[in-house]
Amino acid sequence: MKTYTPMIQQYLKIKAEVPDAFLFFRLGDFYEMFFDDALRASRELEITLTARDGGVEEKIPMCGVPHHAASGYIEQLIQKGFKVAICEQTEDPKQTKGVVKREIVQMITPGTVMESKSLLERENHYLAALTGFQDGSFSIGYLDLTTGETKVTMIDSVREAINELINIKPREIVMASDEDPAIEKELKERDIHSFSVMDDCSKEASFEPVLKEIKQEKLIISMCRLLHYVSATQKRSLDHLQKAASYQIDAYLRMDPNSKRNLELSETIRGNGKKGSLVWLLDETMTAMGARMLRRWIDRPLVKTEDINHRLSIVQGLMDAYFERESLRDSLKEVYDLERLAGRVAFGNVSPRDLVQLKKSLQQVPVVQETLAEMNHKESIKLAESMDPCPELLQLLQSSIIDQPPLTIKDGNFIKDGFNSELDQFRDASRNGKTWIAELEQKERKKTGIRSLKIGYNRIFGYYIEITKANLGNLQDGLYERRQTLSNAERFITPELKEKEELILQAQERSTELEYSLFQEIREQVKKEIPRLQKLALVISQLDVLQCFATVSETRHYVKPTFNQDRKIEITDGRHPVVEKVMDAQEYVPNDCVMHKDCEMLLITGPNMSGKSTYMRQVALTAILGQIGCFVPAAKANLPVFDRIFTRIGAADDLVSGQSTFMVEMLEAQHAIANATQDSLILFDEIGRGTSTYDGMALAQAIIEHVHDHIGAKTLFSTHYHELVELSDKLNSLVNVHVAAAEQDGHVVFLHKIKQGPADKSYGIHVAQLANLPDKLINRANELLIGFEAKPKTKMTTAVYEDEEIGQLSLFHNPKNKKPKKTNNIQQEILNLNVLEMTPLEAMNELYRVQKIAKNEAK
Ligand code: ADP
Repeated sequence: MKTYTPMIQQYLKIKAEVPDAFLFFRLGDFYEMFFDDALRASRELEITLTARDGGVEEKIPMCGVPHHAASGYIEQLIQKGFKVAICEQTEDPKQTKGVVKREIVQMITPGTVMESKSLLERENHYLAALTGFQDGSFSIGYLDLTTGETKVTMIDSVREAINELINIKPREIVMASDEDPAIEKELKERDIHSFSVMDDCSKEASFEPVLKEIKQEKLIISMCRLLHYVSATQKRSLDHLQKAASYQIDAYLRMDPNSKRNLELSETIRGNGKKGSLVWLLDETMTAMGARMLRRWIDRPLVKTEDINHRLSIVQGLMDAYFERESLRDSLKEVYDLERLAGRVAFGNVSPRDLVQLKKSLQQVPVVQETLAEMNHKESIKLAESMDPCPELLQLLQSSIIDQPPLTIKDGNFIKDGFNSELDQFRDASRNGKTWIAELEQKERKKTGIRSLKIGYNRIFGYYIEITKANLGNLQDGLYERRQTLSNAERFITPELKEKEELILQAQERSTELEYSLFQEIREQVKKEIPRLQKLALVISQLDVLQCFATVSETRHYVKPTFNQDRKIEITDGRHPVVEKVMDAQEYVPNDCVMHKDCEMLLITGPNMSGKSTYMRQVALTAILGQIGCFVPAAKANLPVFDRIFTRIGAADDLVSGQSTFMVEMLEAQHAIANATQDSLILFDEIGRGTSTYDGMALAQAIIEHVHDHIGAKTLFSTHYHELVELSDKLNSLVNVHVAAAEQDGHVVFLHKIKQGPADKSYGIHVAQLANLPDKLINRANELLIGFEAKPKTKMTTAVYEDEEIGQLSLFHNPKNKKPKKTNNIQQEILNLNVLEMTPLEAMNELYRVQKIAKNEAK
């Protein structure tokens, strides 16, 4: 039997280490791929597939990319969620016999890219690790390799763990090989596509700086899993990883991913773009670091009043000081991405140009400090004092690197004169040599009388004296040594010239070498300062976000909210921040929102498109803006501090996870009911619309009653079921409001104004009349309406249990298993129920299902 050639054998051995990555196997000037990798890569990258002999009968599929152009191809693969292993030759082919040694030097994966177009400047790029434990709890560790930020948290349940991961939005998740595959499946449905396995979660001495402050064993396990993965893929020291900060999810205002999506915090529901989102409205940051922090703040609003007030107070200071704020913005514009610069320093791929950016950034720090001090505001002065301008580092960078260095370090010429005396000597030698040569030209012209004589240089012959053919006759024989003949000139050398040349070239070579090693030294110095730079970056990012809040608050006329402990909402003339901005010149109609212990729930009625959703969202967005420390779009706002916000808004089908609108509606309602407290805010928009009228209305009423009686959360409930307005007679703290509309010149005009009391019931028919539907039809509708209203209420509630509804209800009960369970044994069915774990809605469904079986059995 024929066997593979030694090189292919080497390939297969290395490929076995990275079965889930494309292996870029270095062969001379190319990275080659073989076998399946080649077939897939040629498809994904649209490159030509060839084949080569590999020692066996059949040729081996092969495709390759030139080494110098590899980064573009790697990027394409990473963007598609693949991983790439870079395998280099680790010995000089000239010095070896047989197959050159090769090793994987780095793995590039979606969560570990350091440089790429997909690396968005203004967004974090996280890699996370998840570990599940026997008791049902989970720990999550995550880091941003580009900035060094490292975090870890403990979560109680798989649901919350999945929610938290969706919130973090990591580009890649590392788990143990035996982790529940359902988690990966669900996360894939939620747009997280890259998963990796790492089973080693042992503690290593090199992890100590990161683990320093983490005490809990379960947290350490996830962090170690993450760090093992990072070191296995990156194969280099990662000195910029910060010590892991542990946080608790309930130390922030919590919002599940659906609620965040519904409120369009970082992207809009339709189109998924940033435009039209809260981030889009707010992002007046001047630095990429600030932009990333803004997103983090929006993701995690605060819940401690004093922390919120601290931010608000600085925003107030910055609002009051227009000129200082403008000059801060100018200074911040000059500050580069310190976090990612620090990452590049640690990673070893920093360039002289990066160091110039670092210098320019550090030069701004004293200017920023001075401006803050001038504001004469206690909090701003504190902020200024907490900035460390890293003077020694600035001094080093100012004295060492020229202002406009070349792109690469390979040719030198980027270290300043006077920084290193040895380098100065080499440079002197080379410069003096060059002057000597220029003088020699004059001297030789005089000596020979040939005025066109010139001294030139090329890489092959070095320095030479060139004399045109026409002048050769004037040259004294034997004066120079002939070197090269051109068509119209001869080139010569002299021993003296060669001697000087050697001196010049040596000096140049030495100075390039020396510059390179000086650069390494400077880099090491900068590396030592990384923790200081990271702290500085943090303060600058905070300042940037706070000035951004002040800027937006001023241009959009927001006010500083106050916070109360009495669970009161008192918003005067509130606006929806994004709708207001989008409407531009058009008048946005402001609305009040007043809720307190006698008004925990607002039941909002009004025609479609009148502004019910907008009103509800504006209340939630006002709360979020307040709790991130920004001013709010209102004339006055006194708010409670919410612990959680739940929303069920709009009819957007959750197509991604393949669930029906109604199912999503019920899941979101269930989630709110199971988790809300009296400090929460719930928005329910048109709950129950996704199913038949009676069914939907019954559910809506049951939900309202439950929230009212058992939770007491501040709840805004919009509905088109007019019957529900009567609930206010029964439920003490439910208040009816409606969105006003009026008739003007035969048209319906939405006034977008929230008024007390329920909407006019016959409004729909009125609108139809205005729309010129035939009189006969309108009369018939009025007749029917009277008939419907006359029906006793009990009829409505019993209708829910009609047989035809049962199929839908059982679907709602168990989405994963739409087929009803087949069993005749009612008793067994009842015994199987875990009543203590059920929500009231689930219990109701189970009852219907069991009753249906009983009915069938009775037939
Ligand atoms: P509904 O939920 O009642 O169907 P929406 O809240 O979706 O209505 O509002 C419909 C449209 O009305 C919005 O897209 C917006 O353009 C406009 N709108 C809503 N509220 C206001 C307001 N307060 N002032 C001005 N226009 C508004």
